Amino acid sequence: MSEDLYQEIILDHYKNPRGKELSVASRGQSHQVNPTCGDEVTVDVGLNTDGTLQVAYTGQGCSISQASASVMSELINGKTPDQAAPIQTAFMELMRSKGQIEPDEDLLEDAVAFIGVSKFPARIKCALISWMALADSQIKAQLTTEMR
Ligand code: ZN
Repeated sequence: MSEDLYQEIILDHYKNPRGKELSVASRGQSHQVNPTCGDEVTVDVGLNTDGTLQVAYTGQGCSISQASASVMSELINGKTPDQAAPIQTAFMELMRSKGQIEPDEDLLEDAVAFIGVSKFPARIKCALISWMALADSQIKAQLTTEMR
């Protein structure tokens, strides 16, 4: 995919957020801030009766932080904790890659769009705060497999 397409994906999630302010039967909540940019994200995690995760979030801040929260919500909602863990690990690796790895599109779907962000150290935290809030809320809800 091209840089232009990545930009489009990020802008689309920013303008049309997925999973924002859905109410979930929350079992764990985490509020994360990125003071250098002014981003804030709160993630709620609950469990569906079939054992899959319910994820909802609220937040405000830059387009990268809010688009990343939308992508995270869309990707993780309806996955079991075991299915979510490799996605979460792959996103962390992507953001540490400085754009040097070939992301797994089958696993990361729209989240591959953030590979460009990984080249800009000042923006990495923007893309990561919703994923950090997710991991923290999963720990609080005891809905996590061991994080690598
Ligand atoms: Zn930001």
